[in-house]
Amino acid sequence: MSEPTGAFCAIHPDVGAVATCDHCGTFACPECVTVHAGRQICTTCIAEGRVQLDTNPWAQRDSLGVPVAWWRTVMAVTTSPSTFFRSLDPEKGLGEAAAFASLALLPALFMGFIFQTLAMLAFGDSLQTMIEPFITQANLPPEVLTELEKVFVVSAGSLASGFFSSVGLGVPINLFIVVFFGVLQHVALMMVGGDTKGFEATLKASFYSVGVRFWEIIPLVNLVGTLWLLVVQSLGYSAIHKTDGWKGWVAAWGPGLTCCCCALSIPFSIGFLGALAG
Ligand SMILES: [Zn+2]
Ligand SMILES: [Zn+2]
Repeated sequence: MSEPTGAFCAIHPDVGAVATCDHCGTFACPECVTVHAGRQICTTCIAEGRVQLDTNPWAQRDSLGVPVAWWRTVMAVTTSPSTFFRSLDPEKGLGEAAAFASLALLPALFMGFIFQTLAMLAFGDSLQTMIEPFITQANLPPEVLTELEKVFVVSAGSLASGFFSSVGLGVPINLFIVVFFGVLQHVALMMVGGDTKGFEATLKASFYSVGVRFWEIIPLVNLVGTLWLLVVQSLGYSAIHKTDGWKGWVAAWGPGLTCCCCALSIPFSIGFLGALAG
C-alpha cells in the first residue's frame, strides 16, 4: 500500500488517506481500500460492482484447497467463461494456469483410455474379422501382421503401454499443442490489432480454456471437445485482452481453419495440376 497522500479519506473525512483507488481515483484510508490482483480498489467501487475482482478460484487454492478450487474453476470456465476470463489478472500466474490445464486433461485422457479399451473389448473381434480380408490381400510381412493382431487384443501389456501413451504422454503432448497453437493464435490476434496484454495473457487464457476438456470424461464429448475448446478460447482471448469479441474469434479459429484449408488445398491443387497436365 502506498504512503500517506496528505489528503483525507473520502468516506472518513477525519482519517488520513493512504491510497487512491486505482479505479476511480478517490482518496481512501486503510479501512476503505483493499488490494485485488495488484490493484488498490476502494470499498465504494467494490460495493457498487464497478470493478471486476479477480474471481479465479484456482488462484485461491491455498484457502479453498486444491480439489475445491479446481472444481470451481472448471465450472467457472464452463458456465461463465467471459466473466471468468475478464476477471483474470493477465500479467501473472502462467505456471498455475498450465497446472490447472494438466489437472483438467488428466481425468479426460484417463477416461478416454478406458472408453477405448472397453470398445476394443466389445468390438475388437468383429473389427478384426472385418478387416481380415484386406490384410490377407495386402500381403503384409509377418512381423507387421503380429503387430496388427496385438491392436485388437486387450492384454496386460497393451493396457500398460496404452495407458502410458494416452495418459502419461497425453498430458505433455496436449499441453505442447496448446502452446503451439497459442503462439499462432497470438499472431492472429496481433494481426487484427487485438493484442493489448501480451503473449502470456493469450497463453494463460488458452490454458484455462482447456478446463472444458474435462467433460471428455463423458463418452462421445471428445467428438466436440476441440470445437468447444475453440469457442471458449474465442471468448477468453477477447475477455483477457479486453478487446472486441470478433478479434477473439479470429484469433482462436484463424490458425486451425488456415491449416484445414491448406490441407484441403493440397489434394485439390494436385488434382488441378493433374487435370491441366492431362
Ligand atoms: Zn474506487
Ligand atoms: Zn475511510
